[in-house]
Amino acid sequence: MHRPSRRHVMAATALVAATAAAAAVTTAAGASDTVQQAQHAIKGGKAKNVILLIGDGMGDSEITLARDYVVGAGGRLNMDGFPLTGAYTTYAVHADGTPDYVTDSAASGSGWATGRKTVNGRISKTPDTDKAVPTILELAQRGGYATGSVTTAELTDATPAVLASHATDRSCQGPGDMAKCPTDTLAKGGPGSIAEQSVNHKVDVLFGGGKQRFDQKVTEGKYKGLTVTEQARKLGYQVVTDGAGLKGVKAGKPVLGLFAPGNVPTEWTGRPAAVGGTDPQRCVTSNPHRPSSTPSLADSATKAIQLLEAKQKHAKKGFFLQIEGASIDKQDHAADPCGQIGETAAFDRAVKVARDYAAKHPDTLVVTTADHGHTSQIVPLEATPPGLSSTLVTNEGQQLKVNYSTNTPGQSQEHTGTQVRIAAQGPQAYRVLGITNQTDLFTTIRRALGLK
Ligand SMILES: [Zn+2]
Repeated sequence: MHRPSRRHVMAATALVAATAAAAAVTTAAGASDTVQQAQHAIKGGKAKNVILLIGDGMGDSEITLARDYVVGAGGRLNMDGFPLTGAYTTYAVHADGTPDYVTDSAASGSGWATGRKTVNGRISKTPDTDKAVPTILELAQRGGYATGSVTTAELTDATPAVLASHATDRSCQGPGDMAKCPTDTLAKGGPGSIAEQSVNHKVDVLFGGGKQRFDQKVTEGKYKGLTVTEQARKLGYQVVTDGAGLKGVKAGKPVLGLFAPGNVPTEWTGRPAAVGGTDPQRCVTSNPHRPSSTPSLADSATKAIQLLEAKQKHAKKGFFLQIEGASIDKQDHAADPCGQIGETAAFDRAVKVARDYAAKHPDTLVVTTADHGHTSQIVPLEATPPGLSSTLVTNEGQQLKVNYSTNTPGQSQEHTGTQVRIAAQGPQAYRVLGITNQTDLFTTIRRALGLK
C-alpha cells in the first residue's frame, strides 16, 4: 500500500498550478493540445519506458542561442514543446559533503544516475569513501528492463560512464588509462576501466564515439591480451562502426556502435570566437572532418529505440534509454558558436525522435535536461566584451553577438554553476516542476520504472 505523502499533496497543488499555467500558455501560443498534454503528464503512475536526454552543458543560454539562430527568436525548438518544465540545481560536493558550486559532467552525471552527489571527476562512487553506488541503469537491468546509452562523445566519457561503470576518476576510460584509478584496476581486484565495465554490464545498446578506448588491450584477468572490442564480441556483442553497419544490426544481441576514434565529429563548423569579435558569419551546416557514413544522433536514437523495443516485445516492461548531446559542451569549451549551435540542433532532432515515440507510446516518460550550465552568453551588438566573441547572422537575417568570457582567451572556457532547465512528459513528469535538485531526477526515473 502506498500512503499519500506530503510530497504528493504538494504535487497535487502543483498540478492545479501547472494546468492553469498551461492554459495560459495555450491562449498565448495557440497550442491547443497543451492543456491535454499537461494533464496527461501530471498523472503519476508507472512508465513502461524512460527516455532521458542530456544536453551536455546545455544551459538556458545555449538553448536560447540555438533557438535564435535556427528557428528564430519567436520560434520553438522540439525541446521547447514539453508540457511540463522546471529547473534543477547541479552543484557537486567536496569530499566532506560541503557544496562545490560548479560541477563537471562526472559529478553531475553521478548525481542524476545514482541520486547521490559526489566530487568532480568521480564516476558513480561516493565522495568520501570512494565506494560504488548503484546506478539507475543497473537498477533498471535488475528490474527486467532493456537498457541503452547513446552519445556523441566517447562512450567512455563521463555522461555515459556514470550509468554503466564506477571509477575513482573519469580519465580511467580504457585499460591503458588507469593511472588515476589505482584501486579500480583488475590487478587490484577492481572492475577495470570504464570501457571494460560498460561491456561487462551487457548494456543492450551502446552507441557513440571512443573506438580508440575499446581498441586498447586488456592487461589482466579473463580477457588479458584481447582488446575491449574483442572482449565485447566474446560477451555476445555485435560491433558496428558506421551508419551502414548500424542499419544492418538485428535485434536479439547487444550492440556496440563505435562511430569515431574519439568524439563523434560535430555536424556544423564555423569560425571560433576571437578576442575583439569576428566579422558577421553564417554557420556552415556541414563538417569536412565528419565522414558521410557517420550516423546522426537522431539516427542512433531511432535505432536504439527500435532495438530496445524489439528486445522487450513480449515483456511487460520496456526500456531505459539515455541519449546525450555531448559536444554542446565541448564546443562551448572551445568557444566555437557554430559547432555548439549545430550540436544543439542535432540534439533537438533526437528530442523529436523521443517525443514522436512517446506520442505513440504515452506510457513513456521523456525527460530532457542538461548536466550543467556553460559559458556562452548572448550580448548586445554594441557591447565590447572582454574575452572571446563572435557575431553570427541568424536564419532570420539578424546579427547576434555571442561572448565567451569564463576564462582567459586561449584557455578552455568553463562550466557555470547556474541551475538548468528540466522538461518532461509522461508518467511522473510532474516531478520536474518547480526547483528541484539534480539528484531528484534519479528518484523520478526510479519511481516511473517502479524500481526498488
Ligand atoms: Zn565540459
